[in-house]
Amino acid sequence: MMEKNKNQKKLNQSFYIENYGCQMNLSDSEIVISILSNDGFVLSNNLEKADIILFNSCSIREKAELTLKKRLEQLQFLKKKKKTLFGVIGCLSKKIINFLIEEKKIDFFVNPNSYKKISDFIRYAMDGKKSLHLNHQKNETYSDIQPFYLNQKKVTTFLSITRGCDNMCTFCIVPFTRGRERSSSPYSIIEQCKHLYQNGYKEITLLGQNVDSYRWSKGFITIGFSELLNLLALEIPSMRIRFSTSNPHDMSDKVLEIISKHPNICKHIHLPVQSGSNKILRLMNRKYTREKYLSLVNRIRTIIPECSISHDIMTGFCNEEEKDHQDTIDLMNKIQYNYGYMFSYSPRPGTYAYRNLQDNVPKDVKKKRLKEIIDLQRNHSSFRMKEYLGKVQEILIEGESKKNCQYWYGRNTQNLVVVFPKQSYKIGDFTHIQITETTSATLIGKIYRDVKK
Ligand code: SF4
Repeated sequence: MMEKNKNQKKLNQSFYIENYGCQMNLSDSEIVISILSNDGFVLSNNLEKADIILFNSCSIREKAELTLKKRLEQLQFLKKKKKTLFGVIGCLSKKIINFLIEEKKIDFFVNPNSYKKISDFIRYAMDGKKSLHLNHQKNETYSDIQPFYLNQKKVTTFLSITRGCDNMCTFCIVPFTRGRERSSSPYSIIEQCKHLYQNGYKEITLLGQNVDSYRWSKGFITIGFSELLNLLALEIPSMRIRFSTSNPHDMSDKVLEIISKHPNICKHIHLPVQSGSNKILRLMNRKYTREKYLSLVNRIRTIIPECSISHDIMTGFCNEEEKDHQDTIDLMNKIQYNYGYMFSYSPRPGTYAYRNLQDNVPKDVKKKRLKEIIDLQRNHSSFRMKEYLGKVQEILIEGESKKNCQYWYGRNTQNLVVVFPKQSYKIGDFTHIQITETTSATLIGKIYRDVKK
């Protein structure tokens, strides 16, 4: 773990951090908080009083970028009134960073590979200098940093096991912002997971842009994702293990067999397909065909029959015709996913598609197609949820239901949300729930019997 430098000047400057985007960003915020705390900065939960506000940004979709710009605009009064420093970290294209710095909306930007130097960026900006340029640490994994875990309920948390991505999907900014793919050492991953378990956490989600290509080598030893999962499942048998995200191109049967073998590896796979059309998959550089994807889904269902499957689908990508859209609908009908995340395409500056492909699907067509797939998914989700009626599910309790304070919510191994009357249980308990009702997004049930863990 990173040692605190005893000679380091205590700055006592306070910082506040806002998160946009994916779980990976949230996990990075925990690393940044740890680094800054070690360097003498103090985490604040009061945005208006903080000396520095960090925006952990995401420009994977246009919406997240617009939200960030709007938020920066809203908070400019703090810059004027209090001289608060604004720093952006995370995934942003150079074009947007330059714009924000030129327009003086922010004081500094730190690339995801340079977080260990974030204090230098802050000091540089405090001195009124425009921006600090560093050579990015291309191999940085932060595996020597003990994150500051934001989830104070101490039930579930995340741990990044790979960083960066080599896949170069044409619509995606990640390979440019996060760099080449690299994997953390299995020893540090196992140690961190054990530490979390000893500190009361019951579930860990292993994160990476493409966890299935996890690969770590030293001398004659090579550990791939299936070996890592196997080791973790054996070392911490009472801890639930999840992972996200899988690229269909890299998912192996070996991984499926390991998931099937260990009860503590959750039976859920998030398997972004993006499109059901081979033409569009080629344009996206996704490196698999719809036939290969369907065959993988069949193997998942054969090897892990109880496994839930979720997806990401992007509609309205460059050159998508009605026939391509129908291919996506057809693929969804064939699979009937448990749930999914659906978006319409927006070109992201800095990507291959932005530079080389024409965003030629009209907005109203994108909107119509998006609505069609969302409606279809809602039907499939309802159908899949009904399959659980009467079944007994093991649930890890994560918190109070937002709709009814008399109910807990938790998730089953398939990552489906279950709500049920609280009785004498508490957050962090495992319990068995019999499902009595369903909606398209939630399972509702009653206590079946206790599970002591
Ligand atoms: S797999 Fe594709 S979409 Fe996912 S992070 Fe890598 S380049 Fe982006």
